[in-house]
Amino acid sequence: MSIRDNIAAIEERKRQAAERSGRRAEDVLLIAVTKLHTPEEINEAIDCGITDIGENKVQEILEKYDRVKPVRWHLIGHLQTNKVKYIIDKVDLIHSVDSLHLAKEIEKRAAQHDKVMDILVQVNAAEEESKFGIGAEETDQLIQAICEQCPHIRIKGLMCIAPLTDDVEEARPFFAEVKAIYDRYRGDKSGKTDFQVLSMGMSNDFEVAVEEGANAIRVGTAIFGARNYRQEEK
Ligand SMILES: *Cc1c(COP(=O)(O)O)cnc(C)c1O
Repeated sequence: MSIRDNIAAIEERKRQAAERSGRRAEDVLLIAVTKLHTPEEINEAIDCGITDIGENKVQEILEKYDRVKPVRWHLIGHLQTNKVKYIIDKVDLIHSVDSLHLAKEIEKRAAQHDKVMDILVQVNAAEEESKFGIGAEETDQLIQAICEQCPHIRIKGLMCIAPLTDDVEEARPFFAEVKAIYDRYRGDKSGKTDFQVLSMGMSNDFEVAVEEGANAIRVGTAIFGARNYRQEEK
């Protein structure tokens, strides 16, 4: 199937999942994950209506940035503090803020560029506790610390990667727990946060994520096909 056919198929599945959760297709943003794919493939996706792309490596963003048509860039992978400076003026949303150390570096670089950086706090599965529990307490602590210490950061919501399971239904309680934290802040009227984005769901589990309330999904393989990881080893 072509990239165009794949996008059409995902849009349809996304629409149906949105409807099952009482929402419309346009309430859920499809972010095309373009890691290890070429600028030509990315531009083809943009020609098919993709408005937002996700990359997980700073290096790849820098290599492709000038060769890709105008689009919103999302950094979705682990971000090393020493690389923040390269992307601070390029990406629209950083999904993967999981430490105050990283947030402080983003704060510093955003201040230098006289901008406010939009970020999501990444919620991780708790290591101990129940199998699909999340670090809700750590998440609250991190959000609070960023609000207090980082005036050049605006927290737009949460991101998570569900634990990999054989049965996607097992991810459902995990998504529901993250949604519950999201709702708590969404109702926060203090003005310290601006929760609007709940980024969860990938090729294998995005329908379950949307059913549980995701409003941004990150889909790579189902649009572009399998990634050639050998390229990465060079
Ligand atoms: C690669 C990646 C995705 C997309 O994964 P697919 O299974 O190819 O859809 C989504 N989120 C993150 C953080 C990723 O690194």
